[in-house]
Amino acid sequence: MIKVFEDFDITLVGYYQSVLESNDIGTFMKNQFGTSGAGELPFVEVIPQLWVLDEEKVEQAKSLIAELQNPANQAKPRPWECPDCGEPQEAAFTNCWKCSAARPGTLV
Ligand SMILES: [Zn+2]
Repeated sequence: MIKVFEDFDITLVGYYQSVLESNDIGTFMKNQFGTSGAGELPFVEVIPQLWVLDEEKVEQAKSLIAELQNPANQAKPRPWECPDCGEPQEAAFTNCWKCSAARPGTLV
């Protein structure tokens, strides 16, 4: 097994795990319940770790994670809803197709 990622944010590690699993990469999460032994080891910080079972898939796993961590990908426009008329909008639209109201938060 090869460790490909670790972070104190268990939801982030879990999210990456689900992405890798959906790409047919077998994974194992270590320290998933790191805080459960707090009574015994109160001062030891345990960081959740994501491991890949198959060494041949490690490179693929790493590139998937790098893609997920790329800020450019995180900033992708998302579908939105017009604040004026409530119509659902495609991610690419900057104005409402129905009433032409500007997309909230759009830099003009
Ligand atoms: Zn509208």
